[in-house]
Amino acid sequence: MKRQPLSRNFYLDEFTRSQTAARHGIDMTVAPGSEVYRNLKLLAELALQPARDALGPIFISSGYRPVALNRAIGGSSTSAHVHGLAADIAVSGHSPLEVARWFEASGIAFDQVIHEFGQWVHVGIVPEGQVPRQQLLTAARVKGRTAYLYGIHSMAEAIRRAG
Ligand SMILES: [Zn+2]
Repeated sequence: MKRQPLSRNFYLDEFTRSQTAARHGIDMTVAPGSEVYRNLKLLAELALQPARDALGPIFISSGYRPVALNRAIGGSSTSAHVHGLAADIAVSGHSPLEVARWFEASGIAFDQVIHEFGQWVHVGIVPEGQVPRQQLLTAARVKGRTAYLYGIHSMAEAIRRAG
């Protein structure tokens, strides 16, 4: 099957790949021209392609999450992933902290960038016509709970601040 490009280096299948969905038989089909498709295309063009151009190849560990998938993984029902407006990414050769800091300085009109547990970076946008919050957060596990701090911090710093 021919791959559906969303931007110069990103393809639709990178955003719809999920082991959990496969295991649960969850349909990950995104119809070209649908709202989710348009959101994923905007995400790729606006936020991910500039990062790819600057930092190198990007691995998307989670992109689109239909409601059933989001429920299966215990994600928030209001997650931007449900609408195809967010991706969790990793960039080889760059730590998640470096990637989050790159977005912070990028000037990209993201809605949320979250440095998550020192493991990946969540990049979220808003649909065309809405005003992005440009929110920067760090998520850390502190005493068995997830703490969210404003700003991009190293895990050591986040744990020190939240503890
Ligand atoms: Zn995410």
